[in-house]
Amino acid sequence: MTDSITIALSKGRILDETLPLLAEAGIELVDDIKKSRKLVFPTTDPSVRVLIIRATDVPTYVQYGGADLGVTGKDVLMEHGGDGLYEPLDLNISRCRLMTAGPKDKPAPAGRIRVATKFVNLARRYYSAQGRQADIIKLYGAMELAPILNLADEIVDIVDTGNTLKANGLEARDLIEHISSRLVVNRASMKMKHERINPIIEKMSVAVEKRRES
Ligand code: AMP
Repeated sequence: MTDSITIALSKGRILDETLPLLAEAGIELVDDIKKSRKLVFPTTDPSVRVLIIRATDVPTYVQYGGADLGVTGKDVLMEHGGDGLYEPLDLNISRCRLMTAGPKDKPAPAGRIRVATKFVNLARRYYSAQGRQADIIKLYGAMELAPILNLADEIVDIVDTGNTLKANGLEARDLIEHISSRLVVNRASMKMKHERINPIIEKMSVAVEKRRES
């Protein structure tokens, strides 16, 4: 069906904050998503369904047309590279900062450094743009441990309150990017289904503005 719409979301903060915005566009989940193990959910609009997948998979599903629309963090989009995607709307939710961090009172050594992160592409681009030589080490979580155990001199990670860094004897160093969640759209869907997709973008955009003003 060319007029059916699939939206890719991920569980957690993004889901909680996106559902009210989708509701303003007339799209509400029918099931209690928190109690279900399903991955595909119907909505109050029979032609719209929602996929629940990992945040890092959202750009990939949307890029290859597995989903027409998706919501994911700018950090994930920067790591993915954004191929095949439009990014028409900053939802201004799940805000945080992408930063470098390291042990308190132990600045990174001069010259080549080791950096642990799950954002390897992004980190490579960042250090290269800074003219700093960095060996990037891929981790899937608990990046904060890497400097403590001498695995790395620095990490690249998401910081919100800074409490996680502090609790592990680290401090934030340089800001790489302010992060928020973005609506992304498959490029082909945007052309083929613009009559369905444009109103969703417009209504979500109005909801974002309303939230910003309140
Ligand atoms: P905090 O201790 O408040 O600085 O939170 C830091 C941790 O929470 C990070 O390690 C992130 O994994 C996670 N986090 C905080 N905000 C976000 C966000 N908007 N999106 C994804 N992860 C986040």
